[in-house]
Amino acid sequence: MGLSTALPSGERISRWRWLWILPRLAFILFVGGVALLLWMSDRADKEERRATLISDILWLEQNLRFHLIRNEELLGRIDQAHTASPAAFESFTRTLFGFESGLRQLIWLGNDGAVRLAHPITMDPNLVGDAMDAAPSRQSFRLARSLGKPVYSAAYPFFTNDWQFEVHVPVSREGRIVGVAVGVYRIRDLLGDSVPWWLAERYRISIIGDSGKALGTRSKIESSVTEEGYQVAFDPPGWGLTLHAVPYHAPRPLASTLLSASLVILATIVLWSLWILRRHVLRRQAVEEQLRQEHAFRKAMEDSLDTGMRARNLDGEIIYVNPAFCRMVGWSAEELIGRHPPMPYWADDYLDATLAIHDRVLAGEGPEEGFELKLKRRNGEVIDVLIHEAPLIDAHGRHSGWMGSMVDITERKQAEERARQQQDRLQSTARLVAMGEMASSIAHELNQPLAAISSYCTGAVNLLRNDAPPAEVVPALDKAVEQARRAGQVIRRIYNLARHSEDRFESIRLGERIDAALAQMEGEIRQKGIRVTLDLQAQPSIEGDPVLLEQALFNLFRNAVESMRDTPIHQRQIDIRLTCADQYALLTIADRGCGIDAGVADKLFDPLFTTKAEGMGMGLAICRSVVENHRGRLSFEANVGGGTVFHILLPMAHQ
Ligand code: ADP
Repeated sequence: MGLSTALPSGERISRWRWLWILPRLAFILFVGGVALLLWMSDRADKEERRATLISDILWLEQNLRFHLIRNEELLGRIDQAHTASPAAFESFTRTLFGFESGLRQLIWLGNDGAVRLAHPITMDPNLVGDAMDAAPSRQSFRLARSLGKPVYSAAYPFFTNDWQFEVHVPVSREGRIVGVAVGVYRIRDLLGDSVPWWLAERYRISIIGDSGKALGTRSKIESSVTEEGYQVAFDPPGWGLTLHAVPYHAPRPLASTLLSASLVILATIVLWSLWILRRHVLRRQAVEEQLRQEHAFRKAMEDSLDTGMRARNLDGEIIYVNPAFCRMVGWSAEELIGRHPPMPYWADDYLDATLAIHDRVLAGEGPEEGFELKLKRRNGEVIDVLIHEAPLIDAHGRHSGWMGSMVDITERKQAEERARQQQDRLQSTARLVAMGEMASSIAHELNQPLAAISSYCTGAVNLLRNDAPPAEVVPALDKAVEQARRAGQVIRRIYNLARHSEDRFESIRLGERIDAALAQMEGEIRQKGIRVTLDLQAQPSIEGDPVLLEQALFNLFRNAVESMRDTPIHQRQIDIRLTCADQYALLTIADRGCGIDAGVADKLFDPLFTTKAEGMGMGLAICRSVVENHRGRLSFEANVGGGTVFHILLPMAHQ
């Protein structure tokens, strides 16, 4: 059926499993690609930030250098500013300590190291001049004077937290060094003044000493510095100082974050939908597998059935047949499915009846207890089947057709028919035996008086011959003798009947026997004013005993005549008809008599059954035995216009 092709085989399922690798691979590649993309984008971000950091710190270093050099130049001109005028010196100091200079103090030392001028004036004992004992200061002072160039001191601590360094600039007047101008830089203040706010927003800027210790820091926040920084040598002042910048943790750009987030969400959705799909397919596969097993089980069950199954839709079209049905009728499923009535397996002689029951079933009026039907095998053989029809309900609960189960009962029917025939034969034999016994006793009883009648009549005839009697007496006595002999003959024949004396059978023409029997009744018929119609359409010959058959016909004619005793004279009529069909001769004798009561119909053929006061009740019993002895059948039915019709069916002689 269609289902077997619709369901994937085991091989197809394993191919399906292979197909699963493809989406998995695609998913892994997709996630890998997304991760690579994010990593590359992150790396590009980092590199860009690092490039910015380097350029920023180089810019800062240059800026600081520019300030320091400018201050060096200004410090070298202190003598000129001081000697010019107090206002000029005022302007000089304002420029020196002005915006972003980073300078904290100015001290002018004479060649002897004595402080000639300090700005601003401070009492701090650690300051230069008062503390010229400090090794770095003294060393720088000397070096600046001897070199005639600005010299920077090493950084030294100032109080606990701060660090300072100094620049010693030789001051010359008319080509002579007349002292040293010392500029004091506090590292924390230098960074505070010189590092622009926007740089401070992005980095923590420190100046690191040669020991690696931070000597001053400009920092917005102390913590949250995550990445590696960058450092350049801070020269001047040198002495191993470095400028170090560490970027603050910058928030990722919104677009990149959004992109990453959406990619992650997308990947999750893809993974989730794949998982759902896989679960669905697995469940479906399990259901299909179950369905396949169920189908195989049902198919095996159907194939092993002896009962034919045939399903039709509501239009009567065949939609399914099982192997047993195909075996039964001899047509294959392919030839039957899709066929409409009349079906090829409908028996030709029963087409109308089959179509009628077919229509009844489709109308929902089929017999619930099932029905018997004759069907035709492909080879023409007719079979008997017992069919039960049940409504076909589809998966949605709708009535979609009819399912018929069919059992071949041909053998059962044949056995029944054989049993019935056997029974008939047995009964017929029993009746014959009974009849024979009775006939033998009647014959025994009657033979004596009949013989006496016969011999007395013969004697009387002889006597009368001698005495020249009236002419009518002798023929009358002759007839009496003849009839007595005939009576004896009939009894003998009935007696012989019980012994199946078919050897006396001869070919006889039935029409002639009818005429002979009627001739016997002629006088009575005429006397009672009965009309007799004779319709002898055929002149069949049969094998039989002419005497017995004539006697049987005579009995039936006599019964017909007697039944019309009370019938109005103008209605008295006997219709005799002889036809041939199917190797049988059918004789019909219809009268317009009193008819047969339903209550006595069963007993009609019983010996000694009679409704007549003077009747013997042997006529019909003998008739039936005679007919059955000729392998025929005697039956009766009510005449439509009143009265009774007797039928005699006799096999015709082989030509
Ligand atoms: P008998 O004629 O001696 O009664 P039969 O065996 O010939 O014996 O008939 C048995 C009974 O069948 C008759 O008594 C009669 O009631 C009935 N019978 C037979 N033939 C006919 C007929 N043609 N019409 C009505 N009744 C009939």
